[in-house]
Amino acid sequence: MEKIVSLAKRRGFVFQSSEIYGGLNGCWDYGPLGVEMLNNLKQAWWRSMTFRDDVEGVDASILMHPRVWEASGHVANFTDPMVDCKQCKARYRVDVLMDELSLKKKKDILREMFPTEFEGQQKDERIESEFSTRFSNEATVTDALKKSIPCPNCGNKGTFTEARQFNLMFKTFVGPVEDTNNVVYLRHETAQGIFVNFMNVQSASRQKLPFGIAQSGKAFRNEINTKNFLFRTREFEQMEMQYFVKPGEEDKFFEYWREERMKWFLELGMKQENLQWHKHEKLAHYAKAAFDIEFKFPFGWGEIEGIHSRTDFDLGNHEKFSGKAMKYFDEQTKEKFVPFVIETSVGASRSFMAFLCASYDEEMVEGEMRTVLHLHPKLAPMKAAILPLVNRDGMDDIAHNMTKDLQKYFRVFYDDSGAIGRRYRRQDEIGTPYCFTVDSQTLQDQTVTVRERDSMRQERIAMSKVKEYLLEKI
Ligand code: ATP
Repeated sequence: MEKIVSLAKRRGFVFQSSEIYGGLNGCWDYGPLGVEMLNNLKQAWWRSMTFRDDVEGVDASILMHPRVWEASGHVANFTDPMVDCKQCKARYRVDVLMDELSLKKKKDILREMFPTEFEGQQKDERIESEFSTRFSNEATVTDALKKSIPCPNCGNKGTFTEARQFNLMFKTFVGPVEDTNNVVYLRHETAQGIFVNFMNVQSASRQKLPFGIAQSGKAFRNEINTKNFLFRTREFEQMEMQYFVKPGEEDKFFEYWREERMKWFLELGMKQENLQWHKHEKLAHYAKAAFDIEFKFPFGWGEIEGIHSRTDFDLGNHEKFSGKAMKYFDEQTKEKFVPFVIETSVGASRSFMAFLCASYDEEMVEGEMRTVLHLHPKLAPMKAAILPLVNRDGMDDIAHNMTKDLQKYFRVFYDDSGAIGRRYRRQDEIGTPYCFTVDSQTLQDQTVTVRERDSMRQERIAMSKVKEYLLEKI
């Protein structure tokens, strides 16, 4: 992780927010290359979702009517239990605190709390499974927090406060008066902007079920624990799609979207062995099924996308809370009903980080270490570098002209400084998939060499074919 974070900063992918003031926890800024890559990622998602017949797009506002969040259940339920250490004032989310205990600590806690049962040697797997069963309810967790779990910061036991529910939505006020009547929330998910527009989109687009609505945009969560770079931040971007279906057809489409979404990651270059499904055993009361796609980050497996079968809960609740019908009229059967929903919900910034981690590599080439990002050409911030071998005999002019031509279609980069090998390495490090070099042969036959990033193989192609070549690869 450290290497990736440092490359991200050095080469201008991601900076700490407000760094000159010491940074703001849980917030990050995308630099020149980062913004290109993030846009490419969002574009890849947008195309896969909306360049088809049955999904429409929207871009809803971040601030919404406060009743939206009552209807969605988030004012009451979007909370995490949290404790403070009375000694050192550190604050923790209880579930994270429990998850992050080392195996040894888990063993100690089990021994302390259930001395007769956990005296001797136990297999590691038994400790893990016993720990999660014994501490699966609030009462035992509270007990363990009071007696046996040490504060990770100061190491003291018995110093935690009672757990308190903490709402993760950021609050602010509309208009000049800061009172409770004027409270609004920064959306913590993009999904509700889709639900409240269901009828608008359906009647404007004349879509028939099944159809979906996609949206990507900022979301905000006042996370208690922000860590692991872009994994859990307070401001992030989501890409969500709600697919509306006839009740009874939800299982079929749930399977369909699970497959589609896994395929999306694989087609953008992720390896199957770095992805896995996680099935939710504990479901929200309205959910029929939920699976996460997890990626193997350097610090362990972590969710990057959730695929949820959400019944008619969201539209049904908005109907109740707003008093406006959220029913679909089926012209064939002449029935009116609230559609069921399959949701696909992926973090743009979290999957950006997953793609960075998946593509980062170090390899020995002719006795030298080469750092390379094996990014899919679609995601790579720069699609190509144009390099004159030397700055004379008109090579630089040709390369400049080629750059200008290509810039009508792609983000490409002109570089004439330093030895060619070093220039290749600089491009490898930021994931540029192709380098086109203008050399003395170009002056004679209008061909250039293409050097491919991953194989480092070179071939000559006609200069007039470069645009086509790139289009095809991307
Ligand atoms: P987690 O428990 O891992 O924070 P979650 O289950 O609350 O995630 P969802 O509410 O299902 O996540 O959100 C869908 C997606 O949005 C996640 O898969 C993740 O990619 C992204 N996401 C959620 N919270 C954050 C965050 N704080 N920072 C970055 N991305 C996030």
